[in-house]
Amino acid sequence: MFISFEGIDFSGKSTQCHLLEKFLTEKGYDVVLLREPGGTRISEIIRKLLLDKRAGDMSALTELLLYSASRAQLVDEVIRPAIVSGRAVICDRFTDSSTAYQGFGRGLEIKEIEMINKVATNGLEPDLTIFIDVTVEESLKRLKLAGKLKDRIESEGTRFFELVRQGYLQLATRHKDRFKVVDGMDDIDNIKRRVKEIVVKRFTIK
Ligand code: ADP
Repeated sequence: MFISFEGIDFSGKSTQCHLLEKFLTEKGYDVVLLREPGGTRISEIIRKLLLDKRAGDMSALTELLLYSASRAQLVDEVIRPAIVSGRAVICDRFTDSSTAYQGFGRGLEIKEIEMINKVATNGLEPDLTIFIDVTVEESLKRLKLAGKLKDRIESEGTRFFELVRQGYLQLATRHKDRFKVVDGMDDIDNIKRRVKEIVVKRFTIK
């Protein structure tokens, strides 16, 4: 079982990843919860570089390749071995984030990103991708509420996040079998219930 969560920043991915981890653990699954970029020593070093504001003038291509390098290490070192040993993997962001952010957001060629995604993961795709959809306005509202300092990616303008959100919606239409869109404007409990329903159905959990 390999499930990824996608969405713009502050859409509630991390919250729902943890809730799903709890549910699956209660159902007896041995769960591995990961967040991208990161999850291995090398990937965490790459993460620091990617989120560092001082690296503000990083080119879109460099950004894409760094995310992909971090992912390649994560797949090799953690995700594949976990799947092989029968564990359930939940990943907060995966390849679709590259397509949405560096492709739809920054304007890199989608076809090229998909090719790089395939190389970085050696063709591994999630069985299920849950896209938590919120408006950009809601995302910024939550960012303010949390009183958090914005990291390099979060400092992008509203237009950028709008492009990313629309990109995700296009991906959801294009990969209907794998993608499920969940309304992220709902409250945490309702989203949790919806996610549970989707997962139970997809993996026929009793
Ligand atoms: P992400 O991982 O997508 O950035 P988080 O799960 O960290 O999002 O949530 C971002 C913020 O929004 C947190 O402060 C969280 O408590 C809050 N939050 C998460 N889900 C909801 C929701 N459905 N409604 C309102 N606030 C939410």
